[in-house]
Amino acid sequence: MGIQRLYILGSTGSIGVNTLDVAARHPGRFEIYALSAYSRIEQLARQACTTRARVVIVPDDAARGRFLAAWPGGPLPEIRQGAQALAETAADLEVDIVMAAIVGAAGLPGALAAARAGKRVLLANKEALVAAGALFMQAVHENGAELLPIDSEHNAIFQCLPRPPGRAGAPGDPAPGVRRLLLTASGGPFRQTALDRLDSVTPDQACAHPTWQMGRKISVDSATMLNKGLEVIEAHWLFAMPAERIDVLIHPQSMVHSMVEYEDGSVLAQLGQPDMRTPIAYGLGFPERIDSGVGLLDLARLGHLDFEEPDLRRFPCLRLSFEALGAGQGACIVLNAANEIAVDGFLHGRIRYTQIPDVIGRCLDDFGTQTTSHPGSLDDIMGLDARTRSVATQFCATSR
Ligand code: NDP
Repeated sequence: MGIQRLYILGSTGSIGVNTLDVAARHPGRFEIYALSAYSRIEQLARQACTTRARVVIVPDDAARGRFLAAWPGGPLPEIRQGAQALAETAADLEVDIVMAAIVGAAGLPGALAAARAGKRVLLANKEALVAAGALFMQAVHENGAELLPIDSEHNAIFQCLPRPPGRAGAPGDPAPGVRRLLLTASGGPFRQTALDRLDSVTPDQACAHPTWQMGRKISVDSATMLNKGLEVIEAHWLFAMPAERIDVLIHPQSMVHSMVEYEDGSVLAQLGQPDMRTPIAYGLGFPERIDSGVGLLDLARLGHLDFEEPDLRRFPCLRLSFEALGAGQGACIVLNAANEIAVDGFLHGRIRYTQIPDVIGRCLDDFGTQTTSHPGSLDDIMGLDARTRSVATQFCATSR
């Protein structure tokens, strides 16, 4: 196999850094073609210098200036700027693999562009499927893109299924013989916290995830289990599986990354250390298995694996997510956008932790019939996303 050239959208984030780590273990196999960042521009300059990336994408003039000032020396990469360049670079002929690892709905245009360009798309950005599931999967099918899920749960399910998700057929027509998908969840840092203490938890406590090291937004989403809700919606689109056949199980050790239950009673699970380099290496090397740098699992030392049902009083965001999936695409867009604003509000001290589901619930109520709509174009999706952000911002401002 020839050298595979990578474009990493969001290279300065947790997934981006882990992708660079895995790629660096295979210098004869992967080359870095392009990297993008949003605020950590000095880190981007160091990454681009080390990897000899040919292109970098920064958001604006100021970031371009910071990049040049931070450049350590040697031949400069081509510097592109703005959201359009971010998406267009995915279609460059030199690009073989796109890692979609920007956080939030901001990652949708780039992920969609990569699917439309028919690339191998490693999808970490779950918000793309939540906000635009039908549009995204259509782009994958029509353009022959190869979609490989990176979210550890979906990567686990992918490994336990007989065929890739991008070719799994239409919703309602899941892989043959599959009865249920079982998504595991750690339960986050507040799994056992007294319910009346949740009101006063801090952002740092919410981000102190017991088993995974992740960016701050997804860490808060894990604490509320909105993250699991987004994953249920993501699984629905990836594996053409109706909501009533997707279950969530709390598994505090985070060693079983998810399971597939078959009609004959078999349950296939994928296990491993909670380290994103495993699913990233799986996506990069597919169909081969390549070294990820992750340590092996010692089951004898672990001793036992625990499972329990999630308590929806503790995790109202999970209930809201199932309701949004049942209501329609519009509701999923509102859920996702309202959550991004609410989590940002919580991280910056504007609302309390327990107000995150309130803001989401109020937005879902406020948008009424728009939640049962099915916006068909990227513009319509981003329009509803923007309107939700504005309403959610007002709710946050009047909440505390
Ligand atoms: P991080 O917050 O660590 O990184 C996010 C990346 O996106 C950074 O490179 C950031 O740039 C960039 N970015 C942020 N906002 C924008 C924007 N408006 N425009 C362009 N780029 C932007 O997130 P994670 O790596 O944790 O997560 C990335 C995605 O992967 C998320 O969708 C998450 O849900 C998903 N995921 C993450 C997992 C994990 O273990 N971390 C596990 C499974 C899924 P900068 O840093 O320069 O500001």
